[in-house]
Amino acid sequence: MPEILNREDIHTFKELILSLTGEDVSRCIQCGKCSSGCPIAYEMTHLPNQIIRFIQLNMQEKALASNSFWLCAVCETCSVRCPENIDIAGIMDALRKISRQRGVKAGDTKIARFNEIFLDSIKKNGRVFELGLVMKYNMATVQPFKDASLGPAMLSKGKLKLSADKIEDQAPVKSAFEKSKPFIEAKSKE
Ligand code: SF4
Ligand code: SF4
Repeated sequence: MPEILNREDIHTFKELILSLTGEDVSRCIQCGKCSSGCPIAYEMTHLPNQIIRFIQLNMQEKALASNSFWLCAVCETCSVRCPENIDIAGIMDALRKISRQRGVKAGDTKIARFNEIFLDSIKKNGRVFELGLVMKYNMATVQPFKDASLGPAMLSKGKLKLSADKIEDQAPVKSAFEKSKPFIEAKSKE
C-alpha cells in the first residue's frame, strides 16, 4: 500500500466518509440504480455502485485509485435515484477532497489537471474564463491544438470571449476558497 494512504483507514475508511459527508454507505443494497443513471459511467474505471462497495469494504486504495470521482460531473442523478437516499455525488466530492489533501496520484491525471485549472479560473475571475481554461488545459496536457478548429465558429457566435469577464463582488468567492483551502491548495502528485 502506498505510504500516502492512511493505514488507520484500513478498517475505518467507511467511517471517514461518514464523518465527511454524513452518508452511511452500509445502507447501500447494491441495486445499481446510481450507476444505470450516471451519464459518465461509460468512461469510469469503476461504476458508482462499485465505488460505494469499495467504501463499504474499507478498500480505500481501490476507491482512491479510481478515475470515477475525478470524472464525476456532480449532476446528482445518482443521489436522486438512490432508493436508500445515499448522496453518492457528495461521496464522490469527498473522495476528490481526500485524494487532493493526501496528494494521492489521480486515477485520471488529465481530469485532475482540468479540475485545478478550472478552480484557478474561478478563483481569479469569480467565473470561468473558457478560452483561458481551454488554452491552459491543452498546454498542460501537451495537446495544444485540441479542439482548435471549433474556436473561430464559437468566437463568431459569441460563445467564447477573448478576455476574462470578472464578477464585481469577489468577496463571496474569496471566502469560499478560504474555507476550502486545505483541499484546494493540496496538489495531486503526478
Ligand atoms: S442506488 Fe443507492 S442503494 Fe443502489 S447501488 Fe447505488 S448507492 Fe447503493
Ligand atoms: S453525480 Fe457523478 S456519479 Fe452521480 S450520476 Fe452524476 S456524474 Fe454520475
